[in-house]
Amino acid sequence: MAKWVNGPFRPIRRAAVIGSGVMGAGIAAHLANAGMEVLLLDVAPQSLTPEEEARGLTTAAPQVRNRLAAAALERMKKAQPAPLYEPAYAERIKPGNLDDHLHLLAEAEWIVEAVVERLDVKRQVLERIEAVRRPGTLVTTNTSGLPVAGMSEGRSEEFRRHFAATHFFNPPRYMKLVEVVPVEGVTAAAAVERLRAVCERQLGKGVVIAKDTPNFIANRIGTYGMLVTLEQLERFGLTVEEADALTGPAMGRPKTATFRMLDLVGLDTLLHVVDNVRERSGDEKERKRFARPAMLERMVADGRLGEKSGGGFYRKV
Ligand code: NAD
Repeated sequence: MAKWVNGPFRPIRRAAVIGSGVMGAGIAAHLANAGMEVLLLDVAPQSLTPEEEARGLTTAAPQVRNRLAAAALERMKKAQPAPLYEPAYAERIKPGNLDDHLHLLAEAEWIVEAVVERLDVKRQVLERIEAVRRPGTLVTTNTSGLPVAGMSEGRSEEFRRHFAATHFFNPPRYMKLVEVVPVEGVTAAAAVERLRAVCERQLGKGVVIAKDTPNFIANRIGTYGMLVTLEQLERFGLTVEEADALTGPAMGRPKTATFRMLDLVGLDTLLHVVDNVRERSGDEKERKRFARPAMLERMVADGRLGEKSGGGFYRKV
């Protein structure tokens, strides 16, 4: 049972998610499931699609500027397994872009950063959040394992006391674990307890408080398992279907066999994770274990990133 620092549990009513990709959209949907009003922001596109051009739109048109987050919202209404408990909950999510709607972050009680896994981009986004957020607002990153401490360097003490990682797993509605990763000696104990309480009580998750190590706990174990499976696939000439049959339901993982999971996660994202552990680990044995598999490199170079690109190990149906 969590300790209540400031009296009884107060649910979060307004949140914001920055980045409307695989995870940002899924997290926004699950926050809406939990009854929150959610602002979902992505970047404003700099060029038009052929369809937008044919409609005579310019890059200044709101439907173009909000296109990425709006498209994510449309996808989540149709996606299977459904990220929303009820299709009507999509109305709780307001799509926008980081330039035009940045000021609205002042209304959020919790801001979740879920942009690409690049430290420089995440640091820039946090700087922009700091400029508008109200003091006391919780800010978390969904990084798969970049240094949480490094991300908030340069931000104010007050910001850093309210900053941590909340690492959701894919898909966020269904995966029960959230790793909460505070920065040792910096993140306030009250902020950690509040995040734990919100994740457990409002979002229905199990929380593990993890250390700020490369890729935290679950990802190191899970990613290593994926690398070993890939190695065995090549070594024994298994098909992807055979490997999934062996690592799926037969092992008590009905929906998340290795290569189905990899397509869902994104092959580029997996390479980022592998690189991050290898480059940041102080352990020689671990650095060897997290070498880049040539097959993954080839697939990413060919643009086969998984479901988000229309196919990876499996073709998108
Ligand atoms: P993604 O590539 O699907 O989406 C990233 C989104 O960020 C895109 O929509 C992009 O337009 C947007 N973006 C890029 N720069 C931006 C900026 N400056 N401001 C606003 N938006 C910006 O990536 P993803 O898989 O959703 O991953 C997001 C984060 O979640 C990463 O840190 C990743 O490591 C982490 N994560 C991913 C998974 C997974 O299974 N894919 C699981 C857990 C955590």
